[in-house]
Amino acid sequence: MSIPSQVKYCIIGAGIHGLSTAWHLAAKLEAQGKGGGKDILVIDKTSIGAGASGIACGVVRNNYYQPAMRELMAACVEVWESDPEAFSYHPVGYMQISPEAMREDVAKIHAEQQAIGYDSAFIEGAGESEAYMKGIFSDWQAKGITSVLHEKKGGYANNLASLYGLATKAEGHGVRILTGAKVTGFETGHNSEAVTAVVTDKGSIACDQVVVAVGPWINQIWTMLELPQTISIKGRDGKMHDDIPMWRYWALEEGTLGVDPNFQKTNDGAMPPVIHVDTDAPLHSDVDGSLITDKIWGIYYKPDFNFGGIQGGAMPYEVKTPVDQVAVDPYGPESPDFVVDDNFAHMWCSALAFCQKRFEGQIGKYKKEASGGIGCFTPDSFPVFDRFRDNVYVIADSNHGYKMIGVGKEVAQELLDGKSALLEPFRVSRYPEGRLHPVSQSPFPWS
Ligand SMILES: Cc1cc2nc3c(=O)[nH]c(=O)nc-3n(C[C@H](O)[C@H](O)[C@H](O)COP(=O)(O)OP(=O)(O)OC[C@H]3O[C@@H](n4cnc5c(N)ncnc54)[C@H](O)[C@@H]3O)c2cc1C
Repeated sequence: MSIPSQVKYCIIGAGIHGLSTAWHLAAKLEAQGKGGGKDILVIDKTSIGAGASGIACGVVRNNYYQPAMRELMAACVEVWESDPEAFSYHPVGYMQISPEAMREDVAKIHAEQQAIGYDSAFIEGAGESEAYMKGIFSDWQAKGITSVLHEKKGGYANNLASLYGLATKAEGHGVRILTGAKVTGFETGHNSEAVTAVVTDKGSIACDQVVVAVGPWINQIWTMLELPQTISIKGRDGKMHDDIPMWRYWALEEGTLGVDPNFQKTNDGAMPPVIHVDTDAPLHSDVDGSLITDKIWGIYYKPDFNFGGIQGGAMPYEVKTPVDQVAVDPYGPESPDFVVDDNFAHMWCSALAFCQKRFEGQIGKYKKEASGGIGCFTPDSFPVFDRFRDNVYVIADSNHGYKMIGVGKEVAQELLDGKSALLEPFRVSRYPEGRLHPVSQSPFPWS
């Protein structure tokens, strides 16, 4: 496709958010008799799914301690459920299996899920939790567990397949998707902050409205937009904390055990829910019995034909390199810096064996292929969905977001019809105003 010189809406990034926004915006414009997607252009420097959305494990869950996250996730699950086939969505459910230190937090999540009508069951007590898990997997053996939250909705989706499903829907409404064009800067008007054109390595595109949905590359575009590199945060102590970096990176560690996905079927022969286990019981090596950790740890896993085995991950680690020096490209499995190593395989396979007997002695089947990737996080590790420079809408999901397929629907509403109550808690003003999201006991920065 040749590069247009002018469009009304220019969406940067063909990941889950850029494509979902394009689709919902085009559908709304069409419904309002305003020409559908013909005024919408999505541009991507590489291809559809070249970023985090294309390598995501694909887990879709509601299990968040923050009420605003839960409400938004419930809306996202509705979008997944609207066309499971097109989105390659597997509604198998999700389980959060937790130690005593997390029981109260998860009980609260369950109570609030009931209040918003999100179907889930909560089991409390060590014996009760074990019996519940053994009712699903007879070989369940995880220790240090005193509660189980079983979300009956959610599950997982296949990363690239769902993106192509979204792209097909957007293109069906007339949206144009231009790949191989990299945004290198912005032009602005003389009398306003507004962006008048998006500059790419293939030429400039004049536009009325910009949507930024660039996932891990947000720091680069943020810098091009000359937005502040640091921010002041009114903390829970009531004091103002200045000069907090706006962005930082965490590396996600994921991999696949190359067994037949059917290996993980339930006692009833069904495909199981996605399993997430956190525990403070010591983790020992499944190879030689040595201690791996005696601190709280967690893993998640699911059988997945797309990945060809049991796929999942463990806790991420913070990238200590200064944010401007982090090499985001080449991204994902191509990165020389941010792919998992043998330590991850050892820990994760040992953790699988800790949870279920069927995984004992299976580490030799771990797929030795590059996997994992980095995510760009906000100061509180929760998303920022907000307007900047008058006409630039930034979708920065702080790496929560493959599951957030419904954010684009809310953004489309904000672009055309006014504020979305679901997105209101994610404005950047929450930092200086001290309207922070509550923090849980989970060892993961995204729960
Ligand atoms: C290993 C891993 C596993 C994950 N697993 C899950 C999960 O199970 N569930 C979940 O909910 N979330 C998961 N996440 C998080 C989730 O993948 C991201 O939060 C989400 O995909 C971000 O979507 P996005 O649309 O914002 O960005 P992306 O999908 O990263 O898309 C951004 C696009 O922008 C393009 N781009 C960047 N810069 C430019 C530029 N200058 N010009 C033009 N185009 C540009 C890129 O090429 C890319 O295609 C995972 C993340 C990782 C790394």
